[in-house]
Amino acid sequence: MTEVKLPEPLGTRPSFGFGDRLGLATPGHLDAIRSYGGAIQPIFVQQSIREMARTGRKPLDVMADALRALQEASYTGLWSADADHLKTPEDVNATAGAGFVFFTIDPCEFIDPTADSLAPDVLKRLFLEIRDDVNWADEYVGKTIALPTGETIEFDLTTVRRIAVKHGRAIAQAVKLGAHIDRVMGKRGGQYEIEISIHGTPQPTTPAEHYIFAEQCLRSNLKLVSVALRYVGKFENGIDFKGDKAAFERSLATHAAIARQLGPYKLSLHSGSDKLSIYETFARVTQGMFHIKSSGTS
Ligand SMILES: [Zn+2]
Repeated sequence: MTEVKLPEPLGTRPSFGFGDRLGLATPGHLDAIRSYGGAIQPIFVQQSIREMARTGRKPLDVMADALRALQEASYTGLWSADADHLKTPEDVNATAGAGFVFFTIDPCEFIDPTADSLAPDVLKRLFLEIRDDVNWADEYVGKTIALPTGETIEFDLTTVRRIAVKHGRAIAQAVKLGAHIDRVMGKRGGQYEIEISIHGTPQPTTPAEHYIFAEQCLRSNLKLVSVALRYVGKFENGIDFKGDKAAFERSLATHAAIARQLGPYKLSLHSGSDKLSIYETFARVTQGMFHIKSSGTS
């Protein structure tokens, strides 16, 4: 009998995540990867705590369903398991205990989307209130980052304060949960990798926001393998991309340059089902350093 591998970190290889809410779709996902996957590595288990609560499944059930399907199909290749949209240490404990090795930290509830429209004097007041929690801020003021695309990111005082007020608490939360994952996985003696997901905001992520968020996570030794940004355009599960494709591609090129310069790490696209008109763009512009999360149709 063939031995199915346990989930393993995939590093910066291109990857595709298959959400499977009912635990029945893995044979189809496997067929898709075998027929059309090419260099793309599969994440056959991808489920958030919220999805599992809704469907009455536990992390161990989700893992067992996938393992059984892979065993029946005699699959011996590499694959991974994504604990999606983690918010608390308890979420981490439950999924790590079930063998997940790809941890997606979602600190979006700590992002303040109103910061974008605050006047400089209000911003200053709010910034001074949280100053001790954003001790990285001063170092960015006045800095200019040159990207290989020829673009630059300018960090003036207002930009930095806005990012501190908007993302400061979310960065702290990501770093805290990342340290918890490291402790838990250290005890288990297993390899793992981390995605940061900040796509749950109304405004598209700016290059300056991306830069500071990712750099602060990396400086805290978070094992960052991918970052899910809020990209330009509209993303709904099961519906193709809506919006200006040229604007999407331009802004993606800037984000991909940041990811290569700081990491390299992958850019991740959530609600990735049926985004048929942008898959090629996403793969090309990221130079193959991408992760797509789908669920429902694949
Ligand atoms: Zn997501």
